[in-house]
Amino acid sequence: MKILVLALGVAAISAAQSPSTREMNDINWMEFREVVPSKIKTVLLPTGTVEAHGVLNNGADNTAPVALARAMAGDVNAMVAPLVPYGVTGSLDGYAGTFQVSEEAYRLFMTDVLRGLARNGFKNIIIVNGHGGPQTAILSEIAEKVGRAERVRTLVVNWWAYCSDLTLKVFGEDGGHAGWNETAFIQAVDKKLVHPERYKDSLATPRPAASTWIAFPFPSPIILYQPNQGYVKFDQAKADQYFREVTQKMVGLVRETVAKWDEAGIFQGGNQ
Ligand SMILES: [Zn+2]
Repeated sequence: MKILVLALGVAAISAAQSPSTREMNDINWMEFREVVPSKIKTVLLPTGTVEAHGVLNNGADNTAPVALARAMAGDVNAMVAPLVPYGVTGSLDGYAGTFQVSEEAYRLFMTDVLRGLARNGFKNIIIVNGHGGPQTAILSEIAEKVGRAERVRTLVVNWWAYCSDLTLKVFGEDGGHAGWNETAFIQAVDKKLVHPERYKDSLATPRPAASTWIAFPFPSPIILYQPNQGYVKFDQAKADQYFREVTQKMVGLVRETVAKWDEAGIFQGGNQ
């Protein structure tokens, strides 16, 4: 009951602060000026890449963080920044329709994107990252660098990794790149992006144990985290549950992190 009252209280607060849109792409400068940073101090920045994803769309790493950020925005009183869709693709470069941005270019470009968000008044920059590999290390490194230089708080989250416990809970087994968990997440967002009629288990290969073998490109676009786990089944109810629970867990992380930054008084004043 107490939790319910608390949740209603939070909903009431965010409704009172709601701008006409939470999309930075859609808001105009006059309204932006009225709400950021006086009413909204947090921005969610979705990042991904374009690479082969089993029977999913090549842009699955973009579809997922955008849907997640939109689902989270009201509950964490945030704006949603436009997606950065091209990224540092790794071992799947070479598959049809896949793009690769060099690490140097990505580092420079993303530094300016983060700096731009800070200079527009956001205090909490939350990167909802949809793609792993070297991209994670680059984002973490520049998020710290820009945070220190601009005196803003930054958080980088790999949603699928942070929510790996929910993969085990909902599917009863571990997942994989374009495995059951990621396929389900996209199925929950838009099932037209999933093609079960093209699926076969031979599209999946377990990730090799460290230093055993390295293939470039990786021999299949579905990369299982564990042998014999994560092969795709198509279950809409599980997909919807996974999306809901991932969203809730991500909201919890952002709320708790921002609350602790506030409590610690970090970067709150103009010249701290
Ligand atoms: Zn992916």
